[in-house]
Amino acid sequence: MALSQEEIIEILKETGALQKGHFRLSSGLHSANYVQCSQLLKFPHLAEKVCTELANQFKEDNISMVVGPAIGGILVAYEVARALHVEGIFAERENGVMTLRRGFHVDKGQRVIVIEDVLTTGGSAQEVVELLQSMGAEVVAAGSIIDRTAGNTLKLKVPFKSLVKLNFETFTEDNCPMCQEGLPIVKPGSRPTKQ
Ligand SMILES: [Zn+2]
Repeated sequence: MALSQEEIIEILKETGALQKGHFRLSSGLHSANYVQCSQLLKFPHLAEKVCTELANQFKEDNISMVVGPAIGGILVAYEVARALHVEGIFAERENGVMTLRRGFHVDKGQRVIVIEDVLTTGGSAQEVVELLQSMGAEVVAAGSIIDRTAGNTLKLKVPFKSLVKLNFETFTEDNCPMCQEGLPIVKPGSRPTKQ
């Protein structure tokens, strides 16, 4: 029962994870689109559906653990791990450095994947990849629900799979068509993960 890309986009819109309007992004640029995966994850039954689809991308990879960078990756990694019937943990920053806390660890040679909600440059994901590699794990791949890498310099150094590619056009205030139309601008919630 595979979901099509259109069905996933529809779920993202219905839950408010994918919004249209006039937004001031954290970069200061303006955009007609905004994505916030937490709005999807607010609905566990829909998050489960979408994350099962993401998990299916990795079911031939013979992995035994899914690792998500906190905060954005925690719930997505958990749901992907559930679908694959493997362990799911998360990495978090301590004094700015990605680390495994809470008794989490990986074994030498253990096959793992790194899972995020949205991947923009893959900076956080790559930090987790390097952390796990430094502990001897074999990081087979990385994945995310949403791929926003278009136009960015990809920092990720492992194979990457996603469910939906989004390419949001951004504008400076001077050349923003929504500003020219006089649409009120909204500052959406700050980004939950550093990338
Ligand atoms: Zn504008």
